[in-house]
Amino acid sequence: MSLVESLARKPAHAYLVIGATAAQFAQKFVQHLFCPTECRTCPQCTKLAHGTHPDFTWVSKSGKRISIDQVRELQQKALYPPVEAPKKIYVIESVEDLSLEAANSLLKILEAPPRYLIFLLLAKSANILPTILSRCQIVKLPTPPRSQIEQLLRERGLSDAEVEALFSLTKGSLADEPLIEAVRQFVPERPKLQQRLAELPENELWDLLTEENLFVRREAILEVLRRLGGYSSAQVLALAAMLSKCDPEVIEFFIQEALYEMASRVKAQGGAQPCAPTAVHFLETAPWKLQRNANVQLLLESLLFTLRP
Ligand SMILES: [Zn+2]
Repeated sequence: MSLVESLARKPAHAYLVIGATAAQFAQKFVQHLFCPTECRTCPQCTKLAHGTHPDFTWVSKSGKRISIDQVRELQQKALYPPVEAPKKIYVIESVEDLSLEAANSLLKILEAPPRYLIFLLLAKSANILPTILSRCQIVKLPTPPRSQIEQLLRERGLSDAEVEALFSLTKGSLADEPLIEAVRQFVPERPKLQQRLAELPENELWDLLTEENLFVRREAILEVLRRLGGYSSAQVLALAAMLSKCDPEVIEFFIQEALYEMASRVKAQGGAQPCAPTAVHFLETAPWKLQRNANVQLLLESLLFTLRP
């Protein structure tokens, strides 16, 4: 019996599904609960396929976060029992992106959910509010090997360059449709973008470190890292100070990209670079430090000085 089958037999009221394939898992779970044979012809299957099933709602973030309004709307609708299926199911995509108010609001309904309700909260890691964590049954999915994810993406018609660009951004977790669409538009533009960034003055380049478009932001980070060797110590300190005042999401993305870049440098040079041991140490400890609310500015300073050739 598959994991989905065994869970759908006697479902709990809330699951936290962790892993790159969480969305695929959720789809299978809902399908299995509504029509286990996947007949594709019954009303349940047809409505699921068309996204019109009244008892199934998929909540994704509108903008940067899942807002309090989205959760309030969900709370309202959750008061009514299912109309066609035995259960009413809510999938909340990337639960890490709940705003704090939205998370607290969701907690209320997780504390005393009506019996017909099932929540599937999807997450990339278990790094979420402990109060939410404690109210869910945790399903940790195995990470598919890179080759398997690449295969899936090629089947969706992505070229090698597009797969590579997507990987550099997702670091191996499965990408959603908007991101795949974005990568299709981005890849042909990339050389032009790189050239434009290389010509930007420092202040304009640094402004792009908070850019909404992740592809542009990532290229800006790579350009900053390329320039880092030419920065004075004062400039490095100014950059760390600037970054430390940004949104945690911006800081995390920067650190992740910098560490990824550092890891590929260490790998490319067979670990022979003088700074390699420090870099490897950093790789192992930095994400942990950020979670423990270490002094972010100090962390960034030490990361940038370690990276500066
Ligand atoms: Zn069916």
